Amino acid sequence: MKHLPRAGVAAAFFCFAVLLAMPAGAQNSPPASQPVPVRYIISLARRPEHLVGVRILLGPGRSERDVQLPVWNALYQVRDFSQNVSSVRAKAATGQPVVVQKLDKTTWHLSGVSPGAEIQYEVFANQSGPFGAELNSQHAFFNLAEILMYPVEGRNSPAEISFTDLPPGWRIATELPSSGEGLTAPGFTAQNYDRLADSPVELGTFQESDFDQGGGHYRVVVDAEPSDYDMRKIVSTLRRLVSAATAWMDDQPFQTYLFLYHFPRGPAGGGMEHADSTAIDISAGRLAENPQALGDLTAHEFFHLWNVKRIRPQRLEPIDYTKENYTRALWFSEGVTTTAGNIIRVRAGLLDDARNLKGLADEIAELQRRPAHLIQSAEESSLDAWLEKYDYYRLPTRSISYYNKGYLLGVLLDLQVREDSRGSASIREVFRWMNENYARKGLYFPDSEGVRRAAEAVSHSDLGWFFQKYVAGTDEIPWDDFFRSVGLHLVQRVISIPDLGFIATQNFDAAPIVSAIVAEGAAERAGLSVGDTILEINGQRVNDSVARHLAALLPGERLRLRVRNSAGEHELQWRLDTRQEIELQLADLDKIAPAQKSRRAAWLRGEAQPAGETRP
Ligand SMILES: [Zn+2]
Repeated sequence: MKHLPRAGVAAAFFCFAVLLAMPAGAQNSPPASQPVPVRYIISLARRPEHLVGVRILLGPGRSERDVQLPVWNALYQVRDFSQNVSSVRAKAATGQPVVVQKLDKTTWHLSGVSPGAEIQYEVFANQSGPFGAELNSQHAFFNLAEILMYPVEGRNSPAEISFTDLPPGWRIATELPSSGEGLTAPGFTAQNYDRLADSPVELGTFQESDFDQGGGHYRVVVDAEPSDYDMRKIVSTLRRLVSAATAWMDDQPFQTYLFLYHFPRGPAGGGMEHADSTAIDISAGRLAENPQALGDLTAHEFFHLWNVKRIRPQRLEPIDYTKENYTRALWFSEGVTTTAGNIIRVRAGLLDDARNLKGLADEIAELQRRPAHLIQSAEESSLDAWLEKYDYYRLPTRSISYYNKGYLLGVLLDLQVREDSRGSASIREVFRWMNENYARKGLYFPDSEGVRRAAEAVSHSDLGWFFQKYVAGTDEIPWDDFFRSVGLHLVQRVISIPDLGFIATQNFDAAPIVSAIVAEGAAERAGLSVGDTILEINGQRVNDSVARHLAALLPGERLRLRVRNSAGEHELQWRLDTRQEIELQLADLDKIAPAQKSRRAAWLRGEAQPAGETRP
């Protein structure tokens, strides 16, 4: 997973007494084999107020029913979307008013709705980015679970959704199939609510392109200033990525796939995976400075269509939208997705070996520098994903990242599987085995145990020790032991870096917060406090990753921070001290055998080795 000021438009009147299209024989209960679709009608009339008008048409059925809005979606964080809901009201299909009783923060009870009912409410939608729901005068982007309630006993019913009150020129992009005719506004269908929730929708005046590759059809939708990107370059990058990924997995479990991009000239950063689409935000500034960011983020999100969407931990299913869903396997579902994404980029010609190994060494350094790597395992970090929204939790002394350690575990597991199988299997075979034995059979894998089973099956070895020490445990990782087979070892170098005197953490693309401060350090003397929100660094707005901004600072440089706290906004400045830090590099061993070199090449390219390859 990782807006612009909008012009005003007069609010249109949101009409309550509109069509209530009930099927013939609506008074009778439908046969169980043919569930009546739940119909959603979304009004975009109140764009300047960011208010989405929602109408839900429920077919005939039970007299007493509950409807719920998810408390979480798109991030492993409880965000209580019902905080944005107002004016919930309902009437029966006969026109009789229905009493709506709220049961808890996110559940509403309806009585006397056996003939069917229409529920209405408004949702405030003003969160930009791939994890949000946003409506304004320039565009709309919805993760539908953040705005649409589901009938508790009808989550598996088919769903239909249509959009009304679109300004002239606006179009709709979603992976959902079009419902064709029938509704008075452009509509789409989904086999059930979960599918609807997994299909983000973009509405506006976006640019669009498409291409076919290996039997799949791909659509590319970009909502950004046309001068900020080059559609031909994006399509060329995507062609290479999708062809590398589908060949590597020997699978293409979809017919069409949608890439949705936003490149805002403001804070942005992140991507969100879906079964047949992805939504990705990169700030225009970041994209200009580092065009490779697009391939990097996209490879990860695209690979998710297998890992986490189809190769899925059992503990995430069935989804419970009302509370946290715990799994110990996010290290695999997120971290090893990055391992695979990097291999895909190498195979697509988008990542060279030097940059790949530099990135790997940097991630090792990142893990080793966090004192919490000795107290929090990859599995525990996966369980605690739900705490990531808290500033203190993100401190290096408190937690590690399941992205970071998971990526590294993917690299190590790859090397170990190669070692144990004498080069005949790799992480590719692990993924293909899981795809074959779980995903394609419609099964979910039993969390870390399922990964172990796959790795043991393809390597014909016992990997219990690996999972016990490094996945469930917090043993120090003997890096050089793993890298020896490919002729590499870690080399430490002492470097001088600026001593910031504080730690800033960030909840995805939210503004960074000062979470810890060195007592009596320069930052504290300058007036910085824990809890301060960092708005600008040396006159530059923090548009995405604060770590990226801070990494660009030099020892001895004068640092100017614009911060906000309870006393208001103010500017602080001080000269940065210098401190020493260990930098890691992956370097060649003194004596490398040809077999180590050929193993390294196969490892970096994500390929099992040719038969007959022997060890030195
Ligand atoms: Zn991810």
